[in-house]
Amino acid sequence: MSFRVFARRAIAATACAGVGAAAYPFVSAPFPRALQESNALVERERLVVLGSGWGAVALLKNIDPTLYDVSVVSPRNFFLNTPLLPGVTVGTVEARSLIEPVRALLPGKPGDASFFEAAAIAVDPVARTVRCKDESEITAANPEFTVPYDKLVVAVGAPPNTFGTPGVREHAKFLKEVDDAIDVRRKLADLFETASLPGVPEEEQRKMLSVLVVGGGPTGVEFAAELHDFLREDVPRLYPALRDKISITVVQSADHILNTYDERISKYAEEKFARDGIRILTNRRVTNVAATHASVTCKKTKATEKIPFGVCVWSTGLGTTPLVSSIIAAAGQPRRRAVSVDKYLQVRGISPRGSAYALGDCADVKSKAASGGELLDKADELFKRADVDKNGAVDKGEFVNILKTLEESYPQIATLTKGAADGMLHDILSKFDDDGDGSLDRREFRRAMAEADSRLASHPATAQVANQQGEYLARELNAQGRARRNGVEDPAPTKPFEYVHLGSFATLGGEQAALDTSGSPLPLDFVSQGIGTMVLWYGVYFSNCVSWRNKAMVVLDWTKKSVWGRDSSRV
Ligand code: FAD
Ligand code: MG
Repeated sequence: MSFRVFARRAIAATACAGVGAAAYPFVSAPFPRALQESNALVERERLVVLGSGWGAVALLKNIDPTLYDVSVVSPRNFFLNTPLLPGVTVGTVEARSLIEPVRALLPGKPGDASFFEAAAIAVDPVARTVRCKDESEITAANPEFTVPYDKLVVAVGAPPNTFGTPGVREHAKFLKEVDDAIDVRRKLADLFETASLPGVPEEEQRKMLSVLVVGGGPTGVEFAAELHDFLREDVPRLYPALRDKISITVVQSADHILNTYDERISKYAEEKFARDGIRILTNRRVTNVAATHASVTCKKTKATEKIPFGVCVWSTGLGTTPLVSSIIAAAGQPRRRAVSVDKYLQVRGISPRGSAYALGDCADVKSKAASGGELLDKADELFKRADVDKNGAVDKGEFVNILKTLEESYPQIATLTKGAADGMLHDILSKFDDDGDGSLDRREFRRAMAEADSRLASHPATAQVANQQGEYLARELNAQGRARRNGVEDPAPTKPFEYVHLGSFATLGGEQAALDTSGSPLPLDFVSQGIGTMVLWYGVYFSNCVSWRNKAMVVLDWTKKSVWGRDSSRV
């Protein structure tokens, strides 16, 4: 690392902090202390927050503790700055620099709010209680306890999805939690040291030093890029005999990597990876993972090949936690990956209104495209409108008529009727007619509406979305709390959640990053990539660190790495 590059990075990180702070306000300043002290702590409602990630922490930093008696329940007693996690796998940043104890983020003075290190295992929306369990190594004689609430915020995130692929949990590594990244780092160090021992045949060395990345989304791509930087910048110094024996392969099921980004960014990333010697296999699916190889099937030809690996990192999408599945069931929602919430982030199907909210990766919030709103919210009213002859069922003619009337204000209807000619519209009915009586009862009609809604675009599962939702909900709950204190009995929500997309970044290694600002109000180019974008990235991710302690530690790590290189110790 030349001094020039180091100086450039250090200046970039500092100079861009301001730009980043303005452009990407992920987590804003804590609630003003003056306001906290001006109000006596009277009649606070019990607000229980499940989770200590992006969504929960954004809420905690903005909630007024004079209005709410806040309790946080999470099996993790810290916040994790996930966007920088890929860097932990090779030592670009240290794990401790990305985390902040949640107790330091609780609102108010010491004692105003509580934290319980446990997992929520069941929610009873009628009794308004959460059953929790201490899942840590050390537990009391009875590790379970119950926390009552007036308002509940579910912000428990989403686990990685293996799509039921055999062997993933046993043999692959995820990149979701801080321990995952530490595990990968330890395993890489072990592989490099083992491959350096005398007498290891070259073929075995090559197999050991094959890194397989499953998933060509931003996390998989950023991990591959970090690893390549390590190979380029540190391996020649640390393991000179191994430098030509290392390979990185990215398997992606879609046509391109970064396929949710603008096409120009996908192409740029693919060209950069090709130059770097990173192999990309698109239109392929991993069908099985064994201890030292994965079976990869081509979606087009159906041919399967075995790819050996020393370490396999799995990052292909999100699943559902058992808690979220149970909340979906308790709310009577159709089965989905995430909890369906309305435009105020209130969990649909749980009453009374305003007693349960969900946000972040575990919540399904439809984007603005749903201008008319979701059909499920009005399903009963629509059923009455459709059932013209009032016989308690919607027959074929009635179904076709209501679909036609709704088509204009509800774009999701078009997805239901897609491809069906006018005369064939009634055929759609049979998809939902479970008892086959030729008409839809109220329940079957609701299912049809839910099916149409499910095809609407949801907000992406990102820290940016979770953070904005957490900030929004805190503002909303503060407004309702103030209204209640002023004598309003059951204050209504003031304004719906609106997501402002500020662009998506992806780092590509070698001081290159891509930024896709499509759909954002920023006066930047639609797509930007290269070193300038990387400079912006340093600023944005510096400013997104949750505390000044975090910011200082991250800058120190970047500086240490630039001056002395990455630390390859296996600790
Ligand atoms: P999380 O931040 O995942 O937090 C969930 C919390 O709930 C955790 O504290 C967890 O311990 C807790 N929890 C889990 N189960 C329970 C339970 N039963 N009871 C109580 N608590 C529970 N997004 C971006 O916008 N930009 C990026 O660059 C970016 N990079 C990423 C890189 C990586 C490696 C990863 C993994 C993700 C990245 N993301 C990025 C996505 C982003 O991290 C998530 O969208 C975001 O964390 C979602 O926030 P959340 O609050 O919903 O959940
Ligand atoms: Mg314990």
